[in-house]
Amino acid sequence: MALKLVDYKTEVHNDWCAGCGDFGILNSIQMALADMQIPRHAATIFSGIGCSGKTPHFINAYGIHTLHGRVLPFAQGAKLSNPNLEVIAVGGDGDGLGIGAGHFVSAGRRNVDMVYIIFDNGVYGLTKGQAAPTLKLGLKTKSLPQPNANNSVNPISLALIAGFTFIARGYSYEVKHLKDLIKMAIQHKGLAFIDVLQPCPTYNDINTKEWFQGLDNISPETGKQIPRTYKLEEIGYDGIVHNEDELNAKMAQVIERSNEWGNRIPVGIFYQNEHIPTYEDRILSRINNYIESPPAKQNISDKENKPISNIGRLLDDLRIDNK
Ligand code: SF4
Ligand code: MG
Repeated sequence: MALKLVDYKTEVHNDWCAGCGDFGILNSIQMALADMQIPRHAATIFSGIGCSGKTPHFINAYGIHTLHGRVLPFAQGAKLSNPNLEVIAVGGDGDGLGIGAGHFVSAGRRNVDMVYIIFDNGVYGLTKGQAAPTLKLGLKTKSLPQPNANNSVNPISLALIAGFTFIARGYSYEVKHLKDLIKMAIQHKGLAFIDVLQPCPTYNDINTKEWFQGLDNISPETGKQIPRTYKLEEIGYDGIVHNEDELNAKMAQVIERSNEWGNRIPVGIFYQNEHIPTYEDRILSRINNYIESPPAKQNISDKENKPISNIGRLLDDLRIDNK
């Protein structure tokens, strides 16, 4: 009997601009969840604020559109409350690497078993195209009165140094490749990060779909255009840390590859290290029934639906006694 595929599509009106790279990322997430037969009640999508923040509205699963820069604390809290969920957090480069940068670094230290996807277009699209943290120094996209005066963040290297244990980059118009990356990120045991390059046709008039296609990137030998993105797996790059002795060499190659930009931009898996214990493992070493009886499964009311928790003692502790 054929398996009935879970359909993650919704009828919610989508007001992303025509041609926005967000559509490809949304499709990739839906396809990855459907391919993996993840039941709808177990898939949970969290977002920050920005154009990408609308993503949970367009996926027929549980989810929360959270606060600016705060998607990772929400998502980590949900996963730790119920470790049986498949948690995917999404947000823009401004949301995650600007206001949310502190949470990005802290998340790396914890290594909670979940996925974080950044929709990386170099601009704050929702607020009319200001320079976001990944916009390169000196670029003048159409909303900027002057070229960008700030240097850009390298999300791949930052994730590595922060401690993420799966680090990849995709491109929003390579939907099948991105879908496969998302599936591998979900399967990874630990915190997975995918930086997804995506054109914002409304405000980023430099890193456009045509720019990624390489229409201006002509080979002197053949006279043909060369697409800017290339796949790491096609050049024999291996980002997996097979044993801890090779850790430094693997980290060094991530830094080297992540600095490639311009005419050749690598996509694929830069790094995967499953030798670091997840945060859930660290909790398990202290609370041995954590997975069977996580906070989300604790009773919070009695048979008459009265709360069984008593915060009276906590309030007593906090009371300032002037007597
Ligand atoms: Fe997409 Fe840019 Fe439009 Fe936002 S402003 S929906 S990122 S094209
Ligand atoms: Mg952005």
